Amino acid sequence: MTKVLVVGGGVAGCATALALHQAGIPAVVYEAHPSGGDDAGAFLTVMANGMAALEVIGADRCVVDASYPAGAVELFDAEGRHLRHRAIEGPARTLRRATLYRVLQDFAAARGVRVVHGKRMVDARRADGGGGVEVRFADGGRAEGDLLVGADGIHSRTRHLIDPQAPTPRYTGQHVVYGYADGNPAGSASDAYHMVFGSRAFFGFTAPGDGRTWWFARVTGERRPGGTTAEQSRDLALAAVRDDTTPAAAIIQATGAAVVGGDSYDIPTTPHWHDDRMVLVGDAAHAASPAAAQGASMALEDAVALAAALREHPDPAVAFTAYTALRRQQTEETVAASAQLARGHGSTPDST
Ligand SMILES: Cc1cc2nc3c(=O)[nH]c(=O)nc-3n(C[C@H](O)[C@H](O)[C@H](O)COP(=O)(O)OP(=O)(O)OC[C@H]3O[C@@H](n4cnc5c(N)ncnc54)[C@H](O)[C@@H]3O)c2cc1C
Repeated sequence: MTKVLVVGGGVAGCATALALHQAGIPAVVYEAHPSGGDDAGAFLTVMANGMAALEVIGADRCVVDASYPAGAVELFDAEGRHLRHRAIEGPARTLRRATLYRVLQDFAAARGVRVVHGKRMVDARRADGGGGVEVRFADGGRAEGDLLVGADGIHSRTRHLIDPQAPTPRYTGQHVVYGYADGNPAGSASDAYHMVFGSRAFFGFTAPGDGRTWWFARVTGERRPGGTTAEQSRDLALAAVRDDTTPAAAIIQATGAAVVGGDSYDIPTTPHWHDDRMVLVGDAAHAASPAAAQGASMALEDAVALAAALREHPDPAVAFTAYTALRRQQTEETVAASAQLARGHGSTPDST
């Protein structure tokens, strides 16, 4: 029976292993981090298409239990004028990215899927004398399987093993800051996102019901290759919203150390999603800027599509080709739409 090695235990990796397991194909997940996703991190919205994919693998309920509803977007200008109301279609849910990782990893373990932490894949090659693949880890360990799924995110090692000329991530022109402020100073409804087309930044916030306001700012500017401290990112966001007549500055000022920021990247196209033994899913294949709020949902859809293709086609090369044909165009279009939104310095969670 085919055994699949899944590299990366994030959204795409766990979902792929679960979908394969459901299709009767054994899979083991190898995750570089020593424990479940603990980054202070960003939050995200799983949109209706992502929730539908979760439902297929039976993981929708546990994600719903760990998240908050996202039902509408209220758009404002830099003077605080309400521009419009938009309903978010379907059962969209907001949660921290680290929570989504943890929930999916726990659910995978409960279903009997092994998720091995502390295993950073550094190399993979055809196994000696067979048609399989051997993976090598940074700790000196090895694993053998029939196929390798690269779910190792935007800086994917697998992408470059499949194609040494594969593109590297592109800077989107924006520094993205996420924070969690005490209270709900703007009095926003618990299932609504408020989004502000500020004069120098796009600012969004929601108060989902945990006593805090979750916010993000997308600040256009040069890359900061050396990275930024939480304080620097917070100051950057504050400086970009300070002149606007909106609650943004007050929300940022009500935020302590719970801030994280970084330059945002995307991957408009990856020419080779697979060879005969290795295949990419999620950000490893098609990372979008956060503006379209589709990265996690697309990763979940990939997982379901890849497992269905492998179930249907016994020859992996045929399955990988079918999977790529199904997913490439749609995901590339979403990445492009997200980049355009980011350039226009806006976004909404329901914009795709
Ligand atoms: C700031 C920000 C905001 C976002 N907002 C949204 C949003 O609102 N909605 C949305 O849908 N998406 C959003 N996204 C995108 C979303 O987070 C990603 O698209 C999604 O996490 C992709 O899942 P993935 O599993 O492909 O990659 P990741 O979630 O990055 O997971 C990759 C995993 O692989 C592991 N890994 C990496 N290299 C190796 C290796 N060599 N060996 C073993 N393991 C490895 C990593 O540790 C990680 O756990 C946002 C992204 C960012 C950065």
